[in-house]
Amino acid sequence: MVTCYRSGPIERDPAAAFHGKNQVDDVLRELDIKIIGDTFEILKSRGQPQAIYGPKMKKLRDQGKFYDYSKEESLLVQSLKSAREADFVISRPAPEASGGTTSETVMTCMRGVPKLVIIGPHGEGILDNDSTFMIRMLTDYYSLVFNSEKNVIAFIRKHIKAFRKGRDSIRQLIIHIKTANPYINDRSKPLWDDNFEGKTILLQGKPGCGKDTQGRFLQDLCGFKFFGSGYELRRLSSKFPILGKSLDKGNLAPEVIINYLMTASIIKLEKFEPIVFSGAAKKPGEAAALIDLLSLLNRELQVVVIDIDDDLVLQRIITRRSCDACETSFLDEKFTDNPICPQCDGLLYFRPENASEQAINKILSWYKTDVEKVIRYFENLGLAIHIDGNRGKEEIFDDIVGILKKENN
Ligand SMILES: [Zn+2]
Repeated sequence: MVTCYRSGPIERDPAAAFHGKNQVDDVLRELDIKIIGDTFEILKSRGQPQAIYGPKMKKLRDQGKFYDYSKEESLLVQSLKSAREADFVISRPAPEASGGTTSETVMTCMRGVPKLVIIGPHGEGILDNDSTFMIRMLTDYYSLVFNSEKNVIAFIRKHIKAFRKGRDSIRQLIIHIKTANPYINDRSKPLWDDNFEGKTILLQGKPGCGKDTQGRFLQDLCGFKFFGSGYELRRLSSKFPILGKSLDKGNLAPEVIINYLMTASIIKLEKFEPIVFSGAAKKPGEAAALIDLLSLLNRELQVVVIDIDDDLVLQRIITRRSCDACETSFLDEKFTDNPICPQCDGLLYFRPENASEQAINKILSWYKTDVEKVIRYFENLGLAIHIDGNRGKEEIFDDIVGILKKENN
C-alpha cells in the first residue's frame, strides 16, 4: 500500500496545520493511500493526548530537565522514521512555525523522499517564516511547491497512476515535471519594483472599500509583507476566545492589542522590507503609536485612503463573503446561496459583526468620528493620498502601484 507522511507540528494535531476541514486526509483515505507517522494519533492511542503531553514536555524543557525530556521524547523518532519510509510527503509549513533544529533534522531525513509542499495561497508559509528549513524543503530535488491544498489534491488525482506505483514512480514524475520547467518551484513577485524597498504603506477607507484585497495584491504580486488587522486578530482569537467573542459582537479590538500586533509585525522587518497595513491604526491612539514606532525605526509612512460612497459600502458589506482558509473576500451574489470558496473549497462565512443593519450603522458612524479624525491627522502630516474606490479592483490597484513607484520616501 502506498504511504504518505502528512507532516505537521510534531506535538500538535498535524491536521491543524492544514485546512479547517483537512480535506487532504479525506482524499488520501478515499484514494486508499495510508497516512503514516501521525504523531497526534500516536499520542491519542497512548492515552496521553497533546493537551497533556505538550505542556508536560514544555515544563521539562523549561525547567532544564533535559535528561528526563529526552527519555520521554519519542515522537520525533517516530516522526523521522515514518517520514523516511513514506512513499511521499505532504507538508504545509505553518507561517508562524519557527522551523528550527527539529525541522531541519526532519528535512535531512526526508532527503530523497518526494515532497508536495503547500506554501499557502499568499505564500505566507515562506513569507512569514525565516527558517532555512523552509528554503531547503522548497528547493529539494524531489519537491514540488503548491499554493493550496486544493492544488495538491488535484495533482495527486491527476497523477494517481504514478502515485499508486510508489516512491520511485513519484520521484520520476517530479523530475520529469521539473526538467520540463526548471522554474516551477519559483514564486516570483512579477510586479516587484526597486522603489518599493523599505516602504511602509497604510491602506485606509470605509468597510468594503477593498483594503484587504489591495493589501493581498501588494503581497502576492509586489512582494510586500501584509498586515491585516482582521487576519491577525482572528489568529490571536484562536488563543484567546474571549477576544473573538467580543469582536464578533462588533466591538473594536483593544488599542493595546492592535499596537502590540503592529509593533510585533514591523519590528522584525529588515530595513529594506516593504510592508502594507490594512485596517490598522484606526483610532487616534493607534495612529500616534504607529508614527512613534516608525520614527524609531527610521521608516516613513505613506497613507493611501480608498474613498467609496456610502451606498456602495452597504451593498458590499451585504454581499461580502470571506474565506478563513485563504483569507480572501468575495463580492458576488452567487456565494450567498453556495458559500464555497472558489480558490480552496473552504466554507465562506459572513462576518458576524456585519450581520445586522444596526451593526453596520455602528461601524459607519464610528468611521465618521474616529477614522476620519485619524485620516485628517495623517493629512496634516502630509502623509495621505486619496484615490477613488468606486471602481474595479484592478483599476484601484494600478493607481496604488503607480503611487508607490513614484513616491520615493
Ligand atoms: Zn479559500
